[in-house]
Amino acid sequence: MSHATSYELFINGKWRAASDRTTLPLINPATEKVFGSVASATVSDLDEALASAERSRKAWSSRSVKERGEILVAAARILATKAGDAAKDLSAEQGKTITEATGEYARAVETLEWNGTHAEELSAPIPLGPNRMIVPEPLGVVAAFTPWNYPAVLIARKLAPALAAGCPVILKGAEETPSAAVHIVEALRYAGVPDGVVNLVFGVPVHISRHLLSSSIVKVLTFTGSTAVGKQLATLAANNLQRCVLELGGHSPVVVCADADLAQAVPAISEYKFECAGQSCNAPSRILVARSLYEEFLYRMREAARKIKIGPPDDPATEMGPMANARRIEAMQRLIQDAVDRGAHIETGGTRLDQPGFYWPPTILTGVPKDAKVLHDEPFGPILTLAPFDTMEEAIEEANATVYGLAAYCFTGAASAKRALIDGLSAGAVSVNYLKGVSADAPYGGIKQSGYGYEGGEQGVRSFQSLKMVNGLGS
Ligand code: NAD
Repeated sequence: MSHATSYELFINGKWRAASDRTTLPLINPATEKVFGSVASATVSDLDEALASAERSRKAWSSRSVKERGEILVAAARILATKAGDAAKDLSAEQGKTITEATGEYARAVETLEWNGTHAEELSAPIPLGPNRMIVPEPLGVVAAFTPWNYPAVLIARKLAPALAAGCPVILKGAEETPSAAVHIVEALRYAGVPDGVVNLVFGVPVHISRHLLSSSIVKVLTFTGSTAVGKQLATLAANNLQRCVLELGGHSPVVVCADADLAQAVPAISEYKFECAGQSCNAPSRILVARSLYEEFLYRMREAARKIKIGPPDDPATEMGPMANARRIEAMQRLIQDAVDRGAHIETGGTRLDQPGFYWPPTILTGVPKDAKVLHDEPFGPILTLAPFDTMEEAIEEANATVYGLAAYCFTGAASAKRALIDGLSAGAVSVNYLKGVSADAPYGGIKQSGYGYEGGEQGVRSFQSLKMVNGLGS
């Protein structure tokens, strides 16, 4: 296995350096100092990964589904025993607190376990009366691309269902946060995943995706990341008509109705928004508040944001760590400057902390004009915009006024308002009086430019299967 802060590729069952020994630096977001390296795959490394995945395909797809499931459950147990150390590695690379990293590993373990436990039932033939049935079959080699914000759980959400379905995987982990991929792949190896069935590469993302998707060996592309990159990958995948699962950006609204319980809504929004320094695809980012509650809500939200303890991710008192990389700091600066130039008001936060590390405080903007970029580009950071509304129609129209459609939230006690919001909000997931994200047992996916396809639950496994229609059984 790779050592502490020097991470390697895993190809055909072996950990090894890149063939030309190239590495990329690992940067600690709390200090901005280089603290390790990750191997950067060459074309010949990628060709080896493709060949080894393809060689392993037949044996893995014809292995009994029960055994595939048992391997995933065993990997979940192994990962659980390593989760304490793995969470420390993740926190150091990504900047999230140890509590957040520990919670993320618990969800990764749960995801491996859920897919392992349900593997058999989700590969079983589906009868359609006496003469017909549907036979789920693995689609073949999967190219999986995962980001740096939730690297452990997002890897588990791709690897576990693909392996349960019987597909080998070539995973490109995020170069900023390699340890999660290494720990999960290592758990799978110990649990008995055969050589070649899981391959792990890192490197220059655009080179890796171009090379892997140009190969007809790859049958499925699964990607979590920005809408811009998702479109590029879907274009590449079109050449070989690879199936795509695209979990892309979001810009999630929260509609706070006049009867909302602010003692419930404000802490819930604050906690979910500022988790992982706001770098979650489904974090709330645009808050629309009934005019009668607006001033009170703004006061409470500002107080909640100001109270959040920002600090090094390994300090137990820290509630929000640094952002993951310098790109996010630049994005915060751009979005806030643009909003202020157009007349927005900064209620709290608004500038980078004057200390080493990518620290950006919780920021609230009000009076944001409708053409400001922050209302349209995914902020992916600790910025919230607040605006009042007068009617439900206006709130729904405003909530839906982006190209994204991932998550939406609302707070109300009235059944008629709940119904109107559930029906009216254009999003893959709507949560009422509650902010929560993905879970292992349920499908999650965006609409509009937040992507297509599903991860999680039964549909997460179906993403890696073809459904063979068999007719004339009784003939
Ligand atoms: P980015 O779009 O360059 O990269 C996002 C992720 O995609 C990274 O892990 C990166 O390694 C990978 N990636 C980039 N180009 C790729 C390519 N050509 N082929 C394969 N993978 C590629 O942006 P970034 O600065 O790293 O992240 C910020 C943006 O990414 C945010 O604005 C947000 O929209 C998006 N993002 C979304 C999620 C999510 O959960 N949906 C997660 C992380 C990042």
